[in-house]
Amino acid sequence: MRGTLPSATRKLSRAMARVVVKLGSSIVAHDDGSPRAEVLAAVCAELAARHAAGEEIVVVTSGAIARGMRVLDLPLRPSAIDALQAASAVGQGKLYRVYDELLREHGVTTAQVLLTFFDLSARTHYLNARQTLRKLLDWRVVPVINENDTTATDEISFGDNDFLAAQVAILVGADLLVLLTNTEGLYTADPRTDPAARLVEEVADFAALDELSIGHETSALGSGGMRSKVVAAEMATAAGLPAVICSGLRDGALGRALAGEREGTRFPPRGARYSSFKLWLRYAKPSRGTVVVDAGAARALREGGRSLLPVGIVDVRGSFDAGDAVEVAADSRVIGKGITSYAAVELRRVKGLKSAEVREVLPRATDEAVHRDHFVLT
Ligand code: GLU
Repeated sequence: MRGTLPSATRKLSRAMARVVVKLGSSIVAHDDGSPRAEVLAAVCAELAARHAAGEEIVVVTSGAIARGMRVLDLPLRPSAIDALQAASAVGQGKLYRVYDELLREHGVTTAQVLLTFFDLSARTHYLNARQTLRKLLDWRVVPVINENDTTATDEISFGDNDFLAAQVAILVGADLLVLLTNTEGLYTADPRTDPAARLVEEVADFAALDELSIGHETSALGSGGMRSKVVAAEMATAAGLPAVICSGLRDGALGRALAGEREGTRFPPRGARYSSFKLWLRYAKPSRGTVVVDAGAARALREGGRSLLPVGIVDVRGSFDAGDAVEVAADSRVIGKGITSYAAVELRRVKGLKSAEVREVLPRATDEAVHRDHFVLT
């Protein structure tokens, strides 16, 4: 964090061109699942105004389960996954229709897009999703995205679309991610129970957050809570784009956040942006195992930007194939993630061997176990 907590929020220096705005279940619906019509109308009016001013808007919305609960007259959010998935299937079309109608009133065309992390973990699917979203934005259409709950359960188990929103922001190369929630932002403690709790205006150092007790509590409708929002902000900022967590219920909050004015909790971007491939590798591709390396190899990867050779590998954990992503660890700490050129069974046979010795065991093997172009430090 810059200075002490909270510190002043800097005004963003230029107008935002492409923004991803995520609405959590508690913004979209009341506790009984009925839609918050006035909130959705205000958010859509704000988004339509930014759109008319030339910006590109992507909406990520939760609330399908909440909508389904209301239609099915379920008093409480179900806990069984199949019931959550089925409630979402009931609610999704109705949820989307609200955005479509509200934005259409302002002359904005929308598209319904349902995504899963599993889709995004295959490079071709990731590129296809990006191509589709880019085409929609070229056509000045506003994508309205939710997780495809019928086939995937990541976000209904934990996250309430927070991670999906960060993924989408990275995927489309957004200039800003706004996570709308039912509090003003991140607090130093739970404001409902601690009167001394203060709003944190800016987070530039995630390590400093360890001092705060960030709640896991979710609303009656969603599965997110502040913790998953902070992790989503961390993902976005590590990929080079700023994020804001702010109220979706307070008048004008979204407008101020989009204008780069002081609002909620702002997370400035950290470091340079990675290439699209490295972002995908880091955030979208799941690891299938771990390769433990010695100190020399760790240094070569960290400081020299070199490839990982079998000679530097001391242990191979898990079962994976060539082409899978693996974590690379040294001294019991994960230092990076890469695409392996060897299957786990092969690596176990050649770990610790010099390249010439590797070829005696596996004549057609490549020198690199993980090529530098296929590796990212984490
Ligand atoms: N896809 C879910 C929905 O729209 C996410 C929200 C949740 O975690 O309940 O309802």
